[in-house]
Amino acid sequence: MKPPGLILVSPVGDIADDISGAVADKVAEVFKAEVRITPLLPDIAFAYDVDRNQYWSTRVLEELEKNAPEHCLKVVAITKKDLFIPILTHVYGEAQLGGKAAVVSITRLNTGLDAVGTAGFMDRIVKEAIHELGHTFDLRHCDDPLCIMHYCRKIADVDRKMNRFCRYCSIYLSDSIKALEK
Ligand SMILES: [Zn+2]
Ligand SMILES: [Zn+2]
Repeated sequence: MKPPGLILVSPVGDIADDISGAVADKVAEVFKAEVRITPLLPDIAFAYDVDRNQYWSTRVLEELEKNAPEHCLKVVAITKKDLFIPILTHVYGEAQLGGKAAVVSITRLNTGLDAVGTAGFMDRIVKEAIHELGHTFDLRHCDDPLCIMHYCRKIADVDRKMNRFCRYCSIYLSDSIKALEK
């Protein structure tokens, strides 16, 4: 299968290089795409909600989409800021379903039990980044609690799921990638 195109991993602010690198490696493997680490947004202050003291992820997606180069297929941003959508207290990330942009917040994935840079924390970031990018390839949430497309409300859910798509989601993903080549 030839690469479906370029996917950008886009750290916002001071995200450690090993985090962006781990996400980029897995994205390249899973989506068989060319991947580059390219910051697109210097910060996400524009998405700040003063009443909630959080950042509205949907605004971040809009801005990412605007700033993404034409030739780039997908972009996933990584931020340390706490994200929300109005109906939820927080989100680990959000993505445009079948669109271009995805964002992941690492802040709630670090439970403090394990220091930054340890396997547990890094695994969660990578899983959530792949999950959100999965949505940009039109994948919906999956009922299988071990599938990477399973919706996670808490850290235990993230830790339980595997770093891969279930059989059903894998087929859907490869169909979605094939459709891009037409
Ligand atoms: Zn999701
Ligand atoms: Zn699945």
